[in-house]
Amino acid sequence: MTRLAGIIGHPVAHSLSPVFQRVAFKHAGLDVRYEAWDTPPREVESRVQSLRGPGFLGANVTIPHKQGVIPFLDELGDLSVRIGAVNTIVNREGRLFGFNTDGPGFIEALRREANAEPKGERVLVLGAGGAARGIVFALVEAGVAAVDIHNRTAARADDLAAVAGPSARAVPGLPDLSGYAIIVNTTSVGMHGTGTEDQSACDLSLAAPRTLAVDIVYTPAETTFLRRARECGLRTLGGLPMLIYQGALAFTHWTGVPAPVDVMFEAAENELSRRRQYA
Ligand code: NAP
Repeated sequence: MTRLAGIIGHPVAHSLSPVFQRVAFKHAGLDVRYEAWDTPPREVESRVQSLRGPGFLGANVTIPHKQGVIPFLDELGDLSVRIGAVNTIVNREGRLFGFNTDGPGFIEALRREANAEPKGERVLVLGAGGAARGIVFALVEAGVAAVDIHNRTAARADDLAAVAGPSARAVPGLPDLSGYAIIVNTTSVGMHGTGTEDQSACDLSLAAPRTLAVDIVYTPAETTFLRRARECGLRTLGGLPMLIYQGALAFTHWTGVPAPVDVMFEAAENELSRRRQYA
């Protein structure tokens, strides 16, 4: 019997998840159809309840429903409780479990694609939106020495630091960049279509030479932040690895087997270059 999985969001037409999850299921020899489920807010409850059916593996959840699905789930993983957001739903014999793989996907991307271990390091996170939340909690859990959060709206950084744990603190002005092993842009500054494509969330020229600069924005593949980091001689990591690894962790939650990340990367990169050609 063909089983079903999909992504719940609004809108979801441009999500890359169907592209790389479909090739992952195919490569793993699993008979699963992965669909894009555009779900307006009033339909979230019925969409989530439908996942209890025997043919459903579960779902990914994206903007704007990562909080909205929570009341309809039976159990939440530790991290999703603390973050207050779910990006993966797993159907286990009619019971629905919620997880958050965004932050763990980010940590996995650091370790596997940049050979960087955050444990014991000082990290600067630029931004305090939904993505920053998952990343900051995961960095704290990974045992960073400190995670400093700087955001345009200072109160959001204060709120995040207050709940994320003792190693997290909000920094009101841009701090001395030379003290960080990892600097992460989680703002949408530099993202295609925002009008900020030629901007960088900070001036990286004062970062220490061994710093890893990470931008979680993945369109364009090299943002202004990453280009400046490269020009300053820093190590860089783009946003696609986080996207792939959050999806890979979801795939494993659904199937119990490791995800074929290489084919997932290849499918996502091909799709992004196809979209660039027609943009
Ligand atoms: P969000 O919740 O809307 O947060 C946006 C963040 O960007 C806030 O901190 C906001 O600051 C800041 N910001 C926006 N415009 C700014 C500007 N002109 N100057 C300074 N700061 C600005 O969005 P999100 O869900 O966190 O997503 C943020 C970015 O990450 C998006 O580009 C998204 O595509 C990307 N993302 C990537 C992945 C991945 O897997 N690679 C996953 C999730 C998100 P204020 O609080 O002051 O408004």
